[in-house]
Amino acid sequence: MADYDYDLFVIGGGSGGVRAARVAAGDAGARVALAEEDRYGGTCVIRGCVPKKLMVFASEFAETASVANAYGWNMSSGSFDWSSFRGHLEKELDRLEGVYRTLLKNSGVDTFDARARLKDAHTVEMSNGETRTAKTILVATGGRPVRPDMPNADLGIVSDDIFHLETLPKSILIIGGGYIACEFACILHGLGVEVTQYYRGAQILRGFDDEARGLIAESMRERGIELHTGTNIVEMAPASADHSMTAVPTASDAAMGASAQQGSVMAGEGDTGANRGGPVWIKATNGHERVFDSVLFATGRDPNTRDMGLEEVGVEIGRRGEIVVDEFSKTASDSIYAIGDVTNRVNLTPVAIREGMAFVETVFKNNPTAVDHDLIPSAVFTQPEMGTVGLSEEDAREREEVEVYCTSFRPMRTAFAGKPDRVLMKLVVSKANRTVLGCHIVAPDAGEMIQLAGIAIKMGATKEDFDRTVAVHPTMSEEIVTMKTPMRTA
Ligand code: NDP
Repeated sequence: MADYDYDLFVIGGGSGGVRAARVAAGDAGARVALAEEDRYGGTCVIRGCVPKKLMVFASEFAETASVANAYGWNMSSGSFDWSSFRGHLEKELDRLEGVYRTLLKNSGVDTFDARARLKDAHTVEMSNGETRTAKTILVATGGRPVRPDMPNADLGIVSDDIFHLETLPKSILIIGGGYIACEFACILHGLGVEVTQYYRGAQILRGFDDEARGLIAESMRERGIELHTGTNIVEMAPASADHSMTAVPTASDAAMGASAQQGSVMAGEGDTGANRGGPVWIKATNGHERVFDSVLFATGRDPNTRDMGLEEVGVEIGRRGEIVVDEFSKTASDSIYAIGDVTNRVNLTPVAIREGMAFVETVFKNNPTAVDHDLIPSAVFTQPEMGTVGLSEEDAREREEVEVYCTSFRPMRTAFAGKPDRVLMKLVVSKANRTVLGCHIVAPDAGEMIQLAGIAIKMGATKEDFDRTVAVHPTMSEEIVTMKTPMRTA
């Protein structure tokens, strides 16, 4: 039998790779090494979910004073200081990265701060010149944001860059209509940036329930985000003096009065903050020519498979650059497995972690475990949030006859303060067997709610199970158990 340096070599120190490495070493007693070329924690911890959620929290304070005043407080809005927030954020990310390193060390995993690529099906070569062999290699290299293929696209920033901005721009154009585009539109608007968003399709958040995404789009516009659907960028260039003369003023200039002023305060006394060489002139498919301090491309993410020597060792790569794996995360090469975003299955942190755990069960615990990708609850951290699990009404109707239970109302907390905010609670129910096929919530803290609704739905709850659960009163979520009559049957 060949003698390898390790039982397992993991490439990539993000959520999935770190979990697999430390469980294989800690629980299964395997000899494990891990290589990471950048910071430990990966996209989620360093440039994704964690810093994004902290920015969501920061942005939500923008409304605090106006709501508090309606409740009898005498509070003024104050101003937002990006550099103070960013300093605090960086310290927190350093702390979390330290936690990840310690977890690996305490589990007995050898770590290499280097880029790794495959030399053969059992050998990894690293950018520091070292080579290691392993019986099994796990690729968990994640993905990266992509810009559209157009001239001057590098004038735009991507989501990774946001956390490093020296100053916030006064105005930004966001391209895209997915999770990242919509979340950053809301965050940056809350922090006082004038936000314009172009989405090429008819409605943002493609793939989610139509009613839910309709309400999110409406709420974003109501808050002052200038959202254009059916619109895309066709040209971009560094803005010149001529361009600023031709810039079309944003429709939100007037509507946003207060927050736009706030934006200029935190943007550092008129500093443009574009960080990629200043303002950008753009031309759109609707004929508009505009100048923005910054352009953010939130146009999707590609798997990190480039220049890794994968195909040379027999790993199959799919059309989008993803590693093709079977239900046990095994690639076309028997000794190489892959988990997380690099496989482009369901690109969410908790899914990568589960794939990592299932891999360890399969390979190191003699317990072949396929990953269950069905009924995964998820949240979009827009304002208001969306929480969703199961089928959209549109997808469910394709499959079978359904009853739709739905209610939309103004929640007590903000209605009292005279705010127009609305929430949506929706259940899509199988007419044949009464199973709840989908649950869609648009509301503050919908992410927290859907986690719990997700348990019931994963257990196969019927509409009648929801009905016989007593409401928690007075809450927004009680509506999910009090909807008696279907809104429609389809
Ligand atoms: P998405 O794939 O969700 O969205 C990409 C968007 O960009 C789509 O609206 C797409 O349009 C548009 N687009 C793609 N190419 C172009 C182009 N050439 N010109 C104009 N528009 C374009 O990717 P994201 O980057 O938003 O997110 C990546 C993944 O990260 C998500 O799928 C999700 O799994 C994960 N994520 C999860 C979060 C959460 O759980 N809260 C938060 C952030 C990310 P079209 O719809 O027409 O294809």
